Amino acid sequence: MRSILVVGAGQAGLHLAIGLLQNGYDVTVVSNRTPEAIRDGRVMSGQCMFGTARAHERALGLDRWADVCPPIEGIALSVAGPAGGKALDWAARLRAPALSVDQRVKMPAWLDEFERLGGKLVIHDVTAEDLETYATRYDLILVAAGKGEIASLFERDAARSAYSTPQRALAVTYVHGLTPRPGHSAVCFNLLPGVGEYFVFPALTHTGPCEIMVFEGVPGGPMDCWGDVRGPAEHLARGRRILESLFPWEAERCSGIELTDANAVLTGRFSPTVRHPVAVLPSGTPVLGVADVVVLNDPITGQGSNNAARCAATYLQAILERGEQPFDAAWMRQTFDRFWAAARHVTRWTNALLAPAEPHHLALLGAAGQVPEIASRFVNGFDDPADYAEWFMDADKAQAYLDRVAA
Ligand SMILES: Cc1cc2nc3c(=O)[nH]c(=O)nc-3n(C[C@H](O)[C@H](O)[C@H](O)COP(=O)(O)OP(=O)(O)OC[C@H]3O[C@@H](n4cnc5c(N)ncnc54)[C@H](O)[C@@H]3O)c2cc1C
Repeated sequence: MRSILVVGAGQAGLHLAIGLLQNGYDVTVVSNRTPEAIRDGRVMSGQCMFGTARAHERALGLDRWADVCPPIEGIALSVAGPAGGKALDWAARLRAPALSVDQRVKMPAWLDEFERLGGKLVIHDVTAEDLETYATRYDLILVAAGKGEIASLFERDAARSAYSTPQRALAVTYVHGLTPRPGHSAVCFNLLPGVGEYFVFPALTHTGPCEIMVFEGVPGGPMDCWGDVRGPAEHLARGRRILESLFPWEAERCSGIELTDANAVLTGRFSPTVRHPVAVLPSGTPVLGVADVVVLNDPITGQGSNNAARCAATYLQAILERGEQPFDAAWMRQTFDRFWAAARHVTRWTNALLAPAEPHHLALLGAAGQVPEIASRFVNGFDDPADYAEWFMDADKAQAYLDRVAA
């Protein structure tokens, strides 16, 4: 039986580990946090997952919260105008609902499932030296440690990394009591050009259904204002103040909000980075990077967990197809290339939304307010970002699409 080591018990690592167990592999997961520490710890993400990623989970029996997690039925876009109020305001439905299950709920449940299927869980903060020791015992080492320090073993791919500094100051707040938007549920995506974005959507946490508020502030601007916040209550108040001054229509929904729990807030910033997928240990053993370790995008487009599920599904398939042949560096690069074929569209689109909007983006988003087909295509692109290459990312294709729709 081939033995595989997975470093990191997150969205990608556990998805892959459970898939491998289900196919008869001997799998060990090393996590730097116990299931209890994950459950009782701080929130980690917004983790809104769209239809395709959910289907990958469902294929392994891992999409377990569909009956209890409030569905996200669409996406609504509002752009704040220069004189206050909304310059743009439209919404469209997703073809398949998205779900956001707090990773503090999901990962401990997946760890239970992993151990129930016979997987071995080791609690340890893995170092580069540890990998060398593991290399003698396993046929394949997968590093799925997210934004963990150990990702720096994998060299940054300068040609594929558009930025070398953080593009947004991030803040997350999980709340109860937020007034639902009228009509269908949605990720309400609010944008103030040059200042930042605010999005809010239904989710499930320990204490039941909730809403997740995500703030993305352009560095140095008025939404980059979290550095002096002391404690969760002040964090909640700071978020409210941002909404009152920049997105007042969203502030109106917040009169009854309270934090879901004492660990319901998160702030931080990181540089979007693509890395080379293979790191070679001093002994010459190659190890393969997974999901955020190798393709880390800003959360502005809410794609990280979706990418992680895509990566896990792609790598699982490649491992199964490999049979008894060696997991060498060439195979690792080919395996990553299969993932990158989809992930490159996510990175390109996400990086584009971090930059000031191009005229053709503005034209398309404006037209989406008049033409439901355009709104629907934009919204459903969140589930299939490769589609943006066909109409949104390129000025000529955008014009051709607008002409076609007008005709
Ligand atoms: C503010 C914010 C909002 C987000 N919103 C969304 C969203 O709406 N939709 C979406 O799809 N994505 C979102 N994401 C991104 C998403 O959460 C991540 O991309 C996704 O969790 C990545 O999965 P992963 O398996 O690569 O890493 P993770 O899920 O981060 O898992 C990595 C695991 O490895 C462990 N680890 C780290 N180092 C070590 C070590 N040395 N040894 C052992 N274990 C280690 C960590 O503790 C962790 O458990 C958001 C992220 C942020 C920061």
